[in-house]
Amino acid sequence: MVYDLIIIGGGAAGLMAAAEASRLKLRALVLEGGAHPGVKLLMCGGGRCNATHVKVTEKDYSCGCVHVLRHVLNGFSNQDAVRFFEQWGAPLALQDDGCYFSADGKARTVLSALLAAIRGNGAELRCGAKVHSIAVQDNIFNVTGGGFIEQARFVLVTTGGLSYPSTGSDGSGYVLAERFGHRLVPRRPALTPFITFGDVFASLSGIVVQVRLSLWVAGRKIKTIQGPLLFTHHGFSGPVALEMGRAWLDAHSSGGEVKADFLPELEADGLKVVFRAAGQRSLKNVLGELLPERLVVLLLSMASVDGLKRPGMSELTRDEKHSLERALRAETLPVKDTAGYAKAEITAGGVDLNELKGASLESRLQEGLYFAGEVVDVDGRIGGFNLQWAWSSAVSAVRAIARKC
Ligand SMILES: Cc1cc2nc3c(=O)[nH]c(=O)nc-3n(C[C@H](O)[C@H](O)[C@H](O)COP(=O)(O)OP(=O)(O)OC[C@H]3O[C@@H](n4cnc5c(N)ncnc54)[C@H](O)[C@@H]3O)c2cc1C
Repeated sequence: MVYDLIIIGGGAAGLMAAAEASRLKLRALVLEGGAHPGVKLLMCGGGRCNATHVKVTEKDYSCGCVHVLRHVLNGFSNQDAVRFFEQWGAPLALQDDGCYFSADGKARTVLSALLAAIRGNGAELRCGAKVHSIAVQDNIFNVTGGGFIEQARFVLVTTGGLSYPSTGSDGSGYVLAERFGHRLVPRRPALTPFITFGDVFASLSGIVVQVRLSLWVAGRKIKTIQGPLLFTHHGFSGPVALEMGRAWLDAHSSGGEVKADFLPELEADGLKVVFRAAGQRSLKNVLGELLPERLVVLLLSMASVDGLKRPGMSELTRDEKHSLERALRAETLPVKDTAGYAKAEITAGGVDLNELKGASLESRLQEGLYFAGEVVDVDGRIGGFNLQWAWSSAVSAVRAIARKC
């Protein structure tokens, strides 16, 4: 049998593509290399799946071709995604920070909705079917894996990137693209935690604090992000660390340093005001009202200041005030590296959007071959933007294919 469409990869983009193909009544087959579909999807948002964001624009992404990105995002918007999941039994709930999560807090519900939508009109999903090569003969694609060859008029590659290879995304889609002559924008891990020199902060593992992180290169501040930082056994994670990782990697060879302001809501001279109002209370108690106790103890010891001293009673020396100010407001974090692809939420780089035909995402080098999801050179910031790209790009490609069918 010759399918209308073979989708290679049953992750977020591949499953949404199959759902749309099913809705448009294409004869579609998803070939997923792993034993189960949507493995990475189940990990999204800490298992709660941050499926999209209340405001999505091209500014939330890095990519080499902004107008195509905008077109694709508008074609199947965040509100379309919200409606889609509602329709298929996975309502999304809007949080105060603008992120939409699975309303029941389960990524599995989002996956089930996709699978239900695929079954709706009968697209096929086959697991344990890793694709090794694609060849074209007489306008028909032969898609080959271990022990199978399948044929289709169109092929959509949704094999993901290199991040979290344990979920099945091992970069094989890039090899398929390169065989058709595609140029790959250099790939690197993005949204990946920091690992540190030594274990100074390890005792804080599990604590989350609001911070302002800034990246400094040669005495110049080049990036600032404010939000939650999570201390881990091996370093720093949470949204601000994940967002900063990519910029740090780029600046690392030029001596980039990450500094943390643990009191981001205070004005520049806010610490002085706090100390003046401290009265008889000890430093440890005053700071304990602003920060978790374990962090206060660590920062006091790093600043070599006795926590029993009373700042309101002028018991701190000028040097002590200075080193305390530095520890609390501009501490250089001992960043050694990022955790790389093993823990990256996304791969930056990939199949160049400029080599795809606009919002159809069809290859300019091989008619009938399409790409969507993380395999393409588009990566978003944290907050549901990467899944929105997966949904939008998948739908965009399938609608273009349906128009040709
Ligand atoms: C821990 C973690 C948490 C995340 N949380 C969020 C979040 O909350 N919100 C958000 O927006 N984004 C999140 N992301 C990013 C998001 O998961 C990705 O953007 C999204 O999964 C990309 O979808 P995809 O379909 O392109 O790739 P994937 O989901 O990686 O799917 C690719 C699929 O293709 C299969 N495959 C690969 N090669 C072949 C082959 N040769 N033959 C057959 N099958 C193949 C793989 O087995 C895999 O199932 C998170 C990522 C991680 C790692």
